[in-house]
Amino acid sequence: MSLVGHLYKLQQLDLELQRKQQELNDVENQLSDDKALVAAESKLASQKEQLEDVRKKQKGAEWELEDLQEKVRQIDSKLYGGKTKDPKELVNLEKEVKSLKSQIRPKEDALLGLMSQVEELEAGVKCTAEDVKQLKQEWEQKQESLGQRKKEVETVLAKLKEDRNGLAQQIYPEVLDTYERLRLTKGQAVVKVERGKCQGCHITVPTSQWQKAKAGDLIQCNSCSRILYLE
Ligand SMILES: [Zn+2]
Repeated sequence: MSLVGHLYKLQQLDLELQRKQQELNDVENQLSDDKALVAAESKLASQKEQLEDVRKKQKGAEWELEDLQEKVRQIDSKLYGGKTKDPKELVNLEKEVKSLKSQIRPKEDALLGLMSQVEELEAGVKCTAEDVKQLKQEWEQKQESLGQRKKEVETVLAKLKEDRNGLAQQIYPEVLDTYERLRLTKGQAVVKVERGKCQGCHITVPTSQWQKAKAGDLIQCNSCSRILYLE
């Protein structure tokens, strides 16, 4: 293989290396992307917290209601137990019981409201918990398949690097420097000459030059400085 042929091959290996490196980056990004799962878990945590809060309120409302009912029972037993004879006291007790009973209704309504809130929140928690379970499963499966893909790409990359370094060792360091410099500035260091034109800048290459390039000499395009390659 000619010197330029070596460089062209080197460039192909470098491009393939770039592609594989990009693929590895993509796989690694996907491996660490747990945003959906984290979001679902945090939603579940906040729903559970809300549920706990409303359950506490429900308990409180139940106690208050029991308390009121107990008070009514006590006064009723005074009213109808026959022990209290004083008419004034009886009137007062009746007033009190009436006032207590008027408080019971709204408390019952509030309690019912809280109970239905609890039910709704429980359904929400159940639904999100299922989502989390599903996402976790998907995540684990993805970790496995992507982990395997990562290993495969790493193996290919290692082989490509080995080939690349082996090939680079066969090229003079100063030629390699020119190649690397062109790669950095032009993206592509070695270009083909097709129908007499440099495929890097599309300017016509003088016949004498492309003939030399075809013979395997290191010829750079007069216009864009890229290394010219003819098969
Ligand atoms: Zn050119």
